[in-house]
Amino acid sequence: MPNVPEIFGCRVFNDAAMKERLPKGTYKDLKKTIEEGKALDISIANVVAHSMKEWAIENGATHFTHWFQPMTGITAEKHDSFISPTPDGKVIMEFSGKELIKGEPDASSFPSGGIRATFEARGYTAWDPSSYAFIKDGSLCIPTAFCSYTGEILDKKTPLLRSMEVLNTQALRILRVFGDNSTKRVDTTVGPEQEYFLVDREVFKKRKDLIYCGRTLFGARPPKGQELDDHYFGTIKPRVSAYMKELDEELWKYGILAKTKHNEVAPAQHELAPIFDTSNIATDHNQLTMAVMKTVAERHGLVCLLHEKPFAGVNGSGKHNNWSMSTNKGKNLLDPSKNPRENTQFLVFLAAVIRAVDEHQDLLRLSVASAGNDHRLGANEAPPAILSMYLGDELTDVLHSIEKGEAYQTKDEAIMKTNANVLPNFVKDTSDRNRTSPFAFTGNKFEFRMVGSSENIACTNTIINTIVADVLQDFADRLEKAENVKEAAEALVKKTLEEHKRIIFNGDNYSDEWVAEAERRGLLNLRSLPDVMPMYASEENIKLFGKHGIYTEVELRSRSEILLENYSKIINIEALTALDMAKKDIVPAVAAYVRELAETANLIKSVDAEIVTTPETELMKKLANLLSCFLKKIDVLDKAVVGAKEVEGVAENAMYYKEKVLAAMQELRAVADEMESNMSAKLWPYPSYGTMLFSV
Ligand code: ADP
Ligand code: MG
Repeated sequence: MPNVPEIFGCRVFNDAAMKERLPKGTYKDLKKTIEEGKALDISIANVVAHSMKEWAIENGATHFTHWFQPMTGITAEKHDSFISPTPDGKVIMEFSGKELIKGEPDASSFPSGGIRATFEARGYTAWDPSSYAFIKDGSLCIPTAFCSYTGEILDKKTPLLRSMEVLNTQALRILRVFGDNSTKRVDTTVGPEQEYFLVDREVFKKRKDLIYCGRTLFGARPPKGQELDDHYFGTIKPRVSAYMKELDEELWKYGILAKTKHNEVAPAQHELAPIFDTSNIATDHNQLTMAVMKTVAERHGLVCLLHEKPFAGVNGSGKHNNWSMSTNKGKNLLDPSKNPRENTQFLVFLAAVIRAVDEHQDLLRLSVASAGNDHRLGANEAPPAILSMYLGDELTDVLHSIEKGEAYQTKDEAIMKTNANVLPNFVKDTSDRNRTSPFAFTGNKFEFRMVGSSENIACTNTIINTIVADVLQDFADRLEKAENVKEAAEALVKKTLEEHKRIIFNGDNYSDEWVAEAERRGLLNLRSLPDVMPMYASEENIKLFGKHGIYTEVELRSRSEILLENYSKIINIEALTALDMAKKDIVPAVAAYVRELAETANLIKSVDAEIVTTPETELMKKLANLLSCFLKKIDVLDKAVVGAKEVEGVAENAMYYKEKVLAAMQELRAVADEMESNMSAKLWPYPSYGTMLFSV
C-alpha cells in the first residue's frame, strides 16, 4: 500500500517545494505573479529556474521541456538536457530564467490554419506560472503557452487563460454590485470525468483499424453487448483493478486529484473522475491524465482507447465537463444556498449561464465537434446534438415563481425513509438527476455532457467562460446603473427567463418527441462537424471573441480551418484503412471460405451422384453473393476517396467526406459485418467484437 500523502505531488514543483526551496522574497514575488497575474521579472525567473533545476536533478531529471498544447489536440514537448560544457572537457547542469520563461520550438509542422507558411518556422512558448512544473520520464516539464513569431496564438491554453481573465473581470463587477468589496478574484473551476476503454494488447495488435484509427471500422455484433447493464458499477476485474491502482498512484505523483473510478455502461468501459480545480489546471491535468492512462495500460499488457466511439452498438466515451465559478475565498457562485428564491446574486449568475447557453448554442456545439464525437452525439447514448439545459424541479419552480412575480415557498427538507430499521434515513437532494441532458445543473455546478472523451477541454471551457462573461458584462452594465440593485436584478432575471426559457428542458433528451419539440422552439440541431464548424468565424462570433480579446478574426478563421481540415484527414485515414482491410484481408478470407465450401460440396456430390445441392452449396452461394456486393462497395469507396481531391474549399471538402466517403464506409461495413456473421471464425482475419470487448 502506498503512503498516499507522501507520494502525492512528489513529481511536482508545487507550492510546498517552492516554499521550501526559494528565498522568501522570490517566493512572495512568484506567488504574486501566480495569484494576480503580474509579469515576472527576469532576475526572479533566474532564481526560480535555479531552484527548479536543483529540485529536478535531485528527482532524477536530466532534461527540461516546454510542455504545450498545440492545435493537434494533444500535448507537445521538445527536450533539452541541462548540460553545458566547461573548459576542462566536462559538463555542468545549467538552467536559466530565460530558458524557463521562453522557448523557441521550430513550429513549422504544427497546424496553424494558414496563419503561417512552413518557411516561417519560428514559434515561441511562454511559461504559465499558474500551472506547476513537473517531472515526466526524466524531463522537467514546464507548462507553456504557444504562439507564432508574429504573435498569433497557436495553442489551446492561451485562449483559455484569456477567457478566465475576462470572466474574472466581469464576475467581480457583479460581486461589487452586490456589495462584496473584498473578493479579489473569481476563477472558473472544472472537474472533468473521463471515460475510456481497455482492450488486451495482443488483441489490439491484430486490428489495423484500432491501430490506425483508434476505432473499429468493421465488426459484427457479439451475442452479448451492454443490454443487461451488468457492467455499469459492476465489480472490477482483477486485471482492470491492478491497472486502476497503478493509474491512481501515477496520477497522485503528478499531483492530480484522482478520486473516483468505476466500470461504465459498455463492457470494457471505465471512468475516472478527479476532484475539480481551476479550469487551467484541470485542463493540464486532464491532458496529462490521458497520456498517463495510455502509458500505464502498456505496462499491464493493455491498450487504453480514448476514441469517442471505438465500437459500434455499445456506448461510446465522453467527458463530463463539470463547471462552476469560485471566489478566491472558496465561495461557489453557483451554490443556490438554502433559499435560492431570496439569493438574488445566485439567480443573476444562473440567469447569465442560461442566456449564454441559449445565445451561443452554435459555439457550445462546435466546441465539442470532432470526427469521433459525431458518432456519439444523438445516438441515444450521449446527449443529442441539440443544446438544452436541465435545472431540476426546485430551481425550475423558483424560476417560475419569479416569472410570475409570486412568492416561493421553500420546501422542507425531504427525508428519505428506507423502511428498514437497520438502515439510516437521510435527507434527500432537492432534485433528481437527468442523465440525458447536455447541460445539467447538478446542485452547485453545471455538467456539460457533450464533450468527447479524447478532446482537449480547453476549447469547451474557453467558450463557456467567454459566453458567460459576455452576458455578465451586459448584466453588470445594467446593474451598476440601478438605484435599487435587488429590484433591478430581479427584473433582469425575470426578463432573461422570458427571453431564454426555450433552452430549458427537463425531460428525456433521447426521445424523438424532444427532437421535434426542439425544432418548434427554434433550437439548433447540428448533427456533424461539417455542419457546425463554418459557424466559428461567423460575423457575430468574430465580434464576440474580438470584443473580449480571446481570438482575433485571423485566429478564429485559422481555428475553424484547422478543425475542418483535421476532420477530412481523419475520415481519409479511416477510409484508406477500411479499403486496406477490405482488399487485403477480408476479400481473401471470404474467398478462401467460399472455396472451402465449394470443395466440400463437390466432395459430397462425388460420393452420391443424386445429391444436387448441399448446405455448403447454399452457404457458398450466399457468401459469394455478399462478396460480389462487397467488391462493388469497395469500388464505390475507392472512387469516393479519389473524388475528394477534386473538392475545393476546406468546408466543402469536409462536407464531402461526411456525405460521400463516410457514407460509403458505412455501406461497406454493413456487408462485411453480414459476411463475418456467416463465416468460419477460424478464417475471419480479425478478433471479433466478443473477443475485444470481453477479453480483459
Ligand atoms: P456526479 O457526476 O455523479 O454528480 P460528482 O458530484 O462527484 O459526480 O461530481 C463529478 C465531478 O464534478 C467531479 O470531478 C467533481 O470534482 C466535480 N465538481 C464538483 N464540484 C465542482 C465545482 N464546484 N466546480 C467544478 N467541478 C466540480
Ligand atoms: Mg457526472
